[in-house]
Amino acid sequence: MSKRDFYEILGVSKSASADEIKKAYRKVAMQYHPDRNPGDKAAEEKFKEAAEAYEILSDADKRAQYDRYGHAGVGNNGRGGFGGGGGMNMEDIFSQFGDVFGEDFFGNIFGGGQRGRSGQRSRGTRGSNLRVKLKLTYEEIAKGVTKNIKVKKYVSCNTCGGSGAKDKGSVQTCGTCGGSGQVRKVTNTFLGQMQTVTTCPTCNGEGSTVTAKCGSCKGEGRVYGEETVSIDIPAGVQEGMQMNVSGRGNAGERGGSPGDLIVLIEEEAHKELHRDGLNVAYDLHITFSDAVFGTQVEVPTIDGKAKIKIPAGTQSGKILRLKGKGFPAVNSYQKGDQLIHVNIWTPQHVSSEEKAMLEKLGTSPNFKPQPDKSDKSFFDKIKEMFS
Ligand SMILES: [Zn+2]
Ligand SMILES: [Zn+2]
Repeated sequence: MSKRDFYEILGVSKSASADEIKKAYRKVAMQYHPDRNPGDKAAEEKFKEAAEAYEILSDADKRAQYDRYGHAGVGNNGRGGFGGGGGMNMEDIFSQFGDVFGEDFFGNIFGGGQRGRSGQRSRGTRGSNLRVKLKLTYEEIAKGVTKNIKVKKYVSCNTCGGSGAKDKGSVQTCGTCGGSGQVRKVTNTFLGQMQTVTTCPTCNGEGSTVTAKCGSCKGEGRVYGEETVSIDIPAGVQEGMQMNVSGRGNAGERGGSPGDLIVLIEEEAHKELHRDGLNVAYDLHITFSDAVFGTQVEVPTIDGKAKIKIPAGTQSGKILRLKGKGFPAVNSYQKGDQLIHVNIWTPQHVSSEEKAMLEKLGTSPNFKPQPDKSDKSFFDKIKEMFS
C-alpha cells in the first residue's frame, strides 16, 4: 500500500511554517477524532494517518529527513525505519495532544473532562531515548541487512510486570482523583465560573498509588538490563544517517511508554573500495605489458567480484566505468557506478638484464609518446572544468 504524502494529509504546502502545520493538524484531528466518529474505522485510519504526519512534520529533523528521502526516510513499519513515527498507537497519539491542544482541550471540546479516550490515564513516566552507533560494511549497505544488536538499557521489571508494586493488593486507587488521574478545579472569573481539568497531583495522573514497592526494581517498574533489538536496514544508507526504532529505547517508569532507539549509521572503511556519494572508486594496477596487449582482470565490487576487459593500448589514468555497480539510493531506483582508475605499474627496481631490454625498447619508435590529438588532454579537462 503506498502511503500518502504527509503534507497532503494535513493539507498544507511543503513550505508551511511550524505554526501552519500545527493548525492544520488540529483541524484534521478534530474532524476525524474517534469521539466524534464512534465506530467509524475509516475516520480512525485518517486520524492515525494525520497523527503520524504531524509527528514527522512537527519535528524539524524528521521533517528534513522526510523532505530528503520521503517515506523511506522516516519509516513506517515500527520495527526499523528512519525517524520513527511508524506504529503509533492511540495512546501515543493522545499523549502528543497535550502539546498541540493544551491540557484542557478535551474537557472543552469533547466534554466529559477525560483525557483522550474514555477512562484513559497516563501511566508512569516515559522512558528516555537511547542512541547507539551501528557500523556497516559496504556489502551490507549495498543490499540492506537485518541487524540484531544488543542494547544495554532499562527494561521493564519482570517481577512486577512494570507496575513497581509488590503485588496486586499494594496498588490502590488514588483517593484524590478517584482513579481518573485528573482533578477539576472551578475558578471564578469575571466571565463567570470556569472549570479546568488538571493532572492529579497525588498520583501524577496515574490514577493509582503504590503502597508497597516491588523488591526487584524498588518500585521503579524497570531494571537495568539488556535487550537484543532487530533492526531492518534498507539498502543505500549512508554514514551519518539516523534510524529511529520506535519504542525500543529505555523502558518507562511504572509502566510508562518506552523511549525510542536512535541508531546512528557508520560506514566501515573498505580495504580496496572507496565510496564517493553513490559511486564507488577503485584503483587498478596493471603491468605495462597488459596495458599494451590488453587483458581481462577481476576487480572487487560491493557485490562480489566482476570481470572487466582492459583494451589493448590502454593509457595510464584511464577511467573505466561499471554501470550500476555503485550504491543504490536509499529512496529511489537510482544507482551509482563503479569507476575504475587504471594505473600502469612502473617497476621500481630492475635487474641489469631488464635494464638492457628496456633501454633497447626505449629507443624504438613505437615507445615514443604520441598522445592522440582527439583525446582531451589533462589541461583541456581542467580548462573545461573552470570555464
Ligand atoms: Zn518490579
Ligand atoms: Zn490521583
